[in-house]
Amino acid sequence: TAAHSKKLTIGLIPADGIGREVIPAARQVLESLPKSDSSPQFEYIHLDAGFEYFQKHGVALPEETLVRLREECQGALFGAVSSPSHKVAGYSSPIVALRKHLDLYANVRPVASVSGTTQKPLDMLIIRENTECLERIETDANGLRVAWADRKISEFASRRAGTMAFNMALMRDKLRRSTSAPSLWQGPPKVTIVHKSNVLSVTDGLWRETVRAVKESNPDLYGSVTMEEQLVDSMVYRMFREPEAFDVVVAPNLYGDIISDGAAALVGSLGLVPSANVGDNFVVGEPVHGSAPDIAGQQKANPIAAIRSAGLLLEHMGYASEAARIYEAVDGVLREGQICTPDLGGSSTTQEVTDAICKRL
Ligand code: ATP
Ligand code: MG
Repeated sequence: TAAHSKKLTIGLIPADGIGREVIPAARQVLESLPKSDSSPQFEYIHLDAGFEYFQKHGVALPEETLVRLREECQGALFGAVSSPSHKVAGYSSPIVALRKHLDLYANVRPVASVSGTTQKPLDMLIIRENTECLERIETDANGLRVAWADRKISEFASRRAGTMAFNMALMRDKLRRSTSAPSLWQGPPKVTIVHKSNVLSVTDGLWRETVRAVKESNPDLYGSVTMEEQLVDSMVYRMFREPEAFDVVVAPNLYGDIISDGAAALVGSLGLVPSANVGDNFVVGEPVHGSAPDIAGQQKANPIAAIRSAGLLLEHMGYASEAARIYEAVDGVLREGQICTPDLGGSSTTQEVTDAICKRL
């Protein structure tokens, strides 16, 4: 209610499956943030998208959703979309379209263990390139289908993802220096570039060279950041053996997706890992998990990935201290270990976990 508290309008797009359970949970947490003079005043707009919407209305991302996001919202939270395993005529993923329309070129995925809750500690930030890797299908002269994976890697997109990674490495380093809490990562900031350029020398070669050049052509800015490379296969191996060896990891679209599901296993559940789709002008928070049709509608979904995604959204909109409050409340509930959903071995419902987090706030 302070005169200078800023109004922020957030678009809520639950979409499919457990998105409809975890996005309301994230909203409840945002609404439970203690009010202060500097904290924003939130308003929410419900927006449609998804496979279920497509089945009813023939369109997966309605024009109205895009227009209202652009004109009325400062950021958004996206739940999950069901992706049919076979091609459905006329359907394409609305989140892919959203990333493209809003130019959300990097998917930022922090994966960190809460001390005492996992076997191996880790605290890494995966930057997944968010716009490239496409495929197409055509018919040959005999009428037989030929499917092509046109793996597009551009210097433009690689440079943007690389720049995001180096900037995030510096930001994390600054944050570590400014807090008294012990951090897992002790050394200078580090960026690990993931690729497979020994096999895909043209595409991944360009990716590798372009990301390396981000540092090499900006020695003043990024001189303090260590740079290393890891082939994607050995990345998976090393991540499971030695997850504490990573700070920021930057990867092309598909590798980034695969690595982050692996990292999610290391912290205990896909239901814990958030992401933010980040562009220069807009942010969309989105849990890393999918629509989880196997547990949808049963109050079994872990809401933490979506709740942390709301924190990431705030962080990337410039509200780091509000975001930190959310992370602390979540970590507190996880550390206590009493109230958790079945994916973490508990029997609490989505609502009970959400309420416990709100109570801590
Ligand atoms: P999609 O096609 O939407 O990606 P999917 O079948 O790949 O769906 P995911 O959502 O990626 O499903 O989930 C993979 C597994 O992880 C499923 O068994 C699901 O139940 C579980 N899972 C995913 N998210 C959560 C969550 N938030 N809480 C609990 N379990 C989850
Ligand atoms: Mg999935």
